[in-house]
Amino acid sequence: MDRNEAMLRELHLLPQWKRRDLSPVVSESAAPESVVEEPVVEEPVVEQRAVIQATQPAEVPVAPPASPSHAQSTQQEAEAAPVPQAEDKLSKLATLNWPDLKQKVHDCAECKLRADCTQTVFGVGDEKADWLFVGEGPGADEDAQGEPFVGQAGKLLDNMLMAIKLKRGQNAYIANVVKCRPPNNRNPDSSEIATCMPYLQRQIQLIQPKLIIALGKVASNTLLGKDATLASLRGTVHDYNGIPMIVTYHPAYLLRSPSEKAKTWQDLRLAVQQFD
Ligand code: URA
Repeated sequence: MDRNEAMLRELHLLPQWKRRDLSPVVSESAAPESVVEEPVVEEPVVEQRAVIQATQPAEVPVAPPASPSHAQSTQQEAEAAPVPQAEDKLSKLATLNWPDLKQKVHDCAECKLRADCTQTVFGVGDEKADWLFVGEGPGADEDAQGEPFVGQAGKLLDNMLMAIKLKRGQNAYIANVVKCRPPNNRNPDSSEIATCMPYLQRQIQLIQPKLIIALGKVASNTLLGKDATLASLRGTVHDYNGIPMIVTYHPAYLLRSPSEKAKTWQDLRLAVQQFD
């Protein structure tokens, strides 16, 4: 099985019906050999938040740290002004190593989210990973288990990783913009994001990934300091402080809209191309 077929399979886009006289449904290079007709299996609805984020504008995003750079294929980003408070906090975190940073997040009660959640959810994976996946914030399962993306959306994310020959913990790190679960799975608000973002920024400094995949609108806009639609951000290689960044749909949104999985597959192909 080649890589394209593997990706399609992991995203549950195979087997796929294909008329011999037409181009394949998804893309030419992905042409699966199978001619078995099978509908895409509808997956259960498990989360509302990512659906909301895919259809409504996010709150004011937090600006990314400054110093944009390079990358030939990288889109020129209009840099938003940094938020001074977040910059201050980041400079205070700048000397922290992994254990100290984990402790800091564990002890954090700087915004109202902490009072309502069970525990902070720091992040998981290979601390020297080339690939960093960034989601929005813990949901109920993550809040209970203390690990990002362990619910239904997490299973789909694991399949996405597998499709590009990655595994949670092996050359991949998974983190969220906010480390505490927003009540009732609402989106984190702008002040919660501003308070928590320096932790993610420090995680990125420590990991030094070669590629960032932003999952969903909140993560994408937060990292890019924008307030754009996900559709307008997809399909280009962005720049996060010199690190190429690709935007795709949040796995929870894909659970609600399985037909969009094909687009996510395109995004993953772009990511692999960029990485190669
Ligand atoms: N959604 C997210 O954005 N992050 C998680 O960890 C789980 C669900």
